[in-house]
Amino acid sequence: HARRIEGVDKNIWVEFTQLAADYQVVNLGQGFPDFSPPSYIQEAFCKAVNGGCSMHQYTRAFGHPPLVTILAKFFSKVVGHDIDAFEDILVTVGAYQALFCTFQALVNEGDEVIIIEPFFDCYQPMVKMAGGKAVYVPLRPRFEGGKALTSADWVLSSEELASKFNSRTKAIVINTPNNPLGKVYKREELQLIADLCIKHDVVCISDEVYEWLTYDGAKHVKIASLPGMWERTVTIGSGGKTFSATGWKVGWAIGAGHILKHLKTVHQNSVYHCATAAQEAVAVGFQREYEHFGTPESYFLQLPERLQHKREKLAACLESVGLQPVLPEGGYFMIADISSVKVDLNDPSTQGEPYDYRFVKWLIKEKGLATIPVSAFYSPEHSKDFENYIRFCFVKEDSTLSSAEAILRNWS
Ligand code: PMP
Ligand code: GLN
Repeated sequence: HARRIEGVDKNIWVEFTQLAADYQVVNLGQGFPDFSPPSYIQEAFCKAVNGGCSMHQYTRAFGHPPLVTILAKFFSKVVGHDIDAFEDILVTVGAYQALFCTFQALVNEGDEVIIIEPFFDCYQPMVKMAGGKAVYVPLRPRFEGGKALTSADWVLSSEELASKFNSRTKAIVINTPNNPLGKVYKREELQLIADLCIKHDVVCISDEVYEWLTYDGAKHVKIASLPGMWERTVTIGSGGKTFSATGWKVGWAIGAGHILKHLKTVHQNSVYHCATAAQEAVAVGFQREYEHFGTPESYFLQLPERLQHKREKLAACLESVGLQPVLPEGGYFMIADISSVKVDLNDPSTQGEPYDYRFVKWLIKEKGLATIPVSAFYSPEHSKDFENYIRFCFVKEDSTLSSAEAILRNWS
């Protein structure tokens, strides 16, 4: 095998999705809705599939023209910058491929890439496969009054962050709203990152797949909209997360043409283009959202409204059983502290694994509830300090959340 894949053979999604399937659990593990996408977008997909011959054939390599056109129109308004549909956008097979193309296109052997912890796990193997070196900087909980109650209490130290930038730094990856924590970066926090990127001539890779999901009035700010950042930011989005259709695998990267052209080089020589009909349906979805933006008809308002109540329901349940949650400001995950729960983890098959892995496996096998261990979202250097949290996904039917609640309330 090639050296570039050494050490990246383990994958939590592969492992825990299989376990959840094997044990027929109530699944609050992998992040996907267990309800349908909005009907208008399902209809758009059906119409595309049943439409003309062209929907079944190749389309433009870098993005189906109707999709890049509406993405440019939509996001120009949001970013406050005139986005060129054909120069500044690449449509990819999910946000995953947008991330992969970005690292492959920009990172050289020995380059450093700063990753803020906790982070969506694929950043690390992708940096490694590109020949780069991941450099980590953690968000640390501020224990005011004894406990960190919300994701806003997890903050970067500006000195620590600044100390990670040097002449080898090529890029920094941020994720807002964050998976798994739910942190929504404030403008001042983004400004700090932006200042360092500009000072050290570093690219910012901003993973914003949960951009429409914020709660309690938290505002999602695009780092690309800050002064001097459009030229050096690649913003990544996901049709799967945006429209509750994770199986469609339509994602995108948006950024200045002089950067995006390198992502296109990777794309044209690997994947070439993504499924035409799915792109057509996502284009119809964005067209509709463009027309209804800011009105109660907008799915980008309806989904967070629906999720806000699910967030309260899950948080109340976790709290009542002694699993102190960190209330997320955004996204559709919630982490909870398991240190006060005493269970006898005597499963010899998981001996030697991190505590949260063992706990999650016990919860799956003995209690029929799937979650995800949070130390998986940390570097090997820091994961030991975060073995006392597990992640719950709440983009689920109320009935699913109630079944999870019943399990949690009955176990002790
Ligand atoms: N980034 C983050 C933060 C994610 O949680 C996910 C998982 N959906 C992705 C990227 C990948 O998204 P996609 O399913 O569109 O490939
Ligand atoms: N992004 C999703 C999550 O965090 C799923 C990722 C995956 O299944 N590979 O749960």
